[in-house]
Amino acid sequence: MKVLITGASGFVGSFLCEKFLKEGFEVFGIDNFITSHIKNVSHLLNNKNFKFLELDVCNLKVEHLGDFKPDIILHFASPASPVDYYKYQIETMLVNSIGTKNCLDIALKFNSRFVLASTSEVYGDPLIHPQNESYWGNVNPIGPRSVYDEAKRFGEAISMAYYRLYKLDIRIIRIFNTYGPRMRINDGRVISNFIVQALKGEKLTIYGDGSQTRSFCYVSDLVEGIYRFSTYNNLSGQVINLGNPSEFTILQLAEIIMKLIPSAKGIEFLPPLEDDPRKRRPDITKAKNLLNWEPKVKLEEGLIYTIDYFKRELML
Ligand code: UDP
Repeated sequence: MKVLITGASGFVGSFLCEKFLKEGFEVFGIDNFITSHIKNVSHLLNNKNFKFLELDVCNLKVEHLGDFKPDIILHFASPASPVDYYKYQIETMLVNSIGTKNCLDIALKFNSRFVLASTSEVYGDPLIHPQNESYWGNVNPIGPRSVYDEAKRFGEAISMAYYRLYKLDIRIIRIFNTYGPRMRINDGRVISNFIVQALKGEKLTIYGDGSQTRSFCYVSDLVEGIYRFSTYNNLSGQVINLGNPSEFTILQLAEIIMKLIPSAKGIEFLPPLEDDPRKRRPDITKAKNLLNWEPKVKLEEGLIYTIDYFKRELML
């Protein structure tokens, strides 16, 4: 079996490459390194079942694949942290629109299964809690997060259009906050920021009063869920939440990280971010029923693995 993975050298994409190789797949990875690094897959480059191409998915054509005919396409290329997609606003909109269409056209040519990495951001600042897949969301179409939220919503819509028009096997994953090794030191996400600040003996920066909530999933749990959703039969047209339903305020998260990293110098409260969702927690009933999946790694345990990674990255 052959799988094409876009965003292959990214935080989640690189773990997906490893997982599919381990399960016996041939993997073709594509990435343009806009928010990723080759080091995440450099240990795979000698694997005879792994091919890697540096390319922007917006320019992807079937000719780039040579004789590789994917059974499954996983479209994971996109800036995904708010700091990144604010920096790369146009690129984010294009990879999730033109990039998604390019992948769908390849899926159409080879009758491949297509799996879209969507996001909990399609729920915006949610008015129902926790969020289940039938909720349509509360998204500001012109705010600073819209370049990501609306582009992912477009990605979902065009994927479902191919499902309805061409009967392609389309699957959509709404990924909630995920963390672990291979996050970038400066990607701006809350867990990487707090850990790096604490390790450097700085104050942890909280935007607003820290009462906003998030639910954090360790990357190995997410990857297992993605693998099952991508490989199980009879899931065409399904949309699924994957994430950890344990919900924490950002202030609680800061306190846990300060306990685990005693060098932290306390908290600095900064102005709140525009359109920052107040609450976020996945309802994972559907994933439990369809995939017999739920996260196993508790927050403190996952943070310990992640702190080890950042210590190595910072050479501490
Ligand atoms: N956040 C924070 N300090 C930081 C980075 C983020 O207080 O240094 C907050 C941010 O305002 C948001 C939450 O942490 O409420 C999660 O932010 P992140 O960028 O990790 O992802 P998001 O869930 O917003 O996409």
